[in-house]
Amino acid sequence: MSHIEPGIFVRHDPLVEPVPVIFDSPHSGADYPVDFSYACSPKLLRQAEDAHVDRLFSAAPETGATLIAALFPRSYIDVNRAVDDIDPQLLDVPWPGPVSTSDRARVGMGLVRRVCRPGLAMYDRKLSVPEITHRIDRYYRPYHAAVADAIEQAVDRFGAVWHVNCHSMPSSRGPRIPVSGWERADFVLGDRDGTTCGAGFRRLVQGTLQRMGYDVRINDPYKGVELVRRFGQPHLGRHSLQIEVNRRLYMNEETLEPNAGFERLKRDIDNLVAAIAPYARDELMAAAAD
Ligand SMILES: [Zn+2]
Repeated sequence: MSHIEPGIFVRHDPLVEPVPVIFDSPHSGADYPVDFSYACSPKLLRQAEDAHVDRLFSAAPETGATLIAALFPRSYIDVNRAVDDIDPQLLDVPWPGPVSTSDRARVGMGLVRRVCRPGLAMYDRKLSVPEITHRIDRYYRPYHAAVADAIEQAVDRFGAVWHVNCHSMPSSRGPRIPVSGWERADFVLGDRDGTTCGAGFRRLVQGTLQRMGYDVRINDPYKGVELVRRFGQPHLGRHSLQIEVNRRLYMNEETLEPNAGFERLKRDIDNLVAAIAPYARDELMAAAAD
């Protein structure tokens, strides 16, 4: 069964006996709202999408897990930013609420982006406070609530939850990631330096991918941002891990068309997803035996 909030998110519920495992794909949405009115090229704008990530993880419900995917694009409002990560330069008047501007927002990549990519403006105008408020209330908060509800239901029923926050990353290092001497791995796992999930869960995902032959990095350069920060509380049995998949493994990064590697990667991710449900069951049994 799927539940759809048109333009906002889709939630795919378990097709077999449920396990406390939630996948979410916050950046794969491509329903561009009519009031977006951006000024950059649609082709460049679309390259911000984590295109097809929802499809790559679509086996989740067949393993008893829940999969939630945003339907709006991350360039309209980014649910993987704190809600107060406001960029003052974007607005026509000062923001009326609390503001905690991150380094990302200072370079135009905050909650609502000011740039399509570095040096290229997203808009030919300033945005109004009601415009941003609408995006927060109509898109950001319902998406967060959908993930939070799924996580709370899992914890209520099972006493613990494993959340996988799914993304993809460009294959080449852009100017917005000023890390020297760093080559793109196949996968980057982020647990905010070991704070958002138990080490055993991170090792399960890392080891499963490595045995498939993939190069996996940990917290380098992506540590995880708002969604794993909000939901990851491993001391309370709430484990949250971010996964970044290298886009060259599955698509043409200019056109977003799936490439010849897509089917192989999809099969491997199917197997990764299938390994998580029994891990969660084993962890619950071990906890019950304590
Ligand atoms: Zn992403």
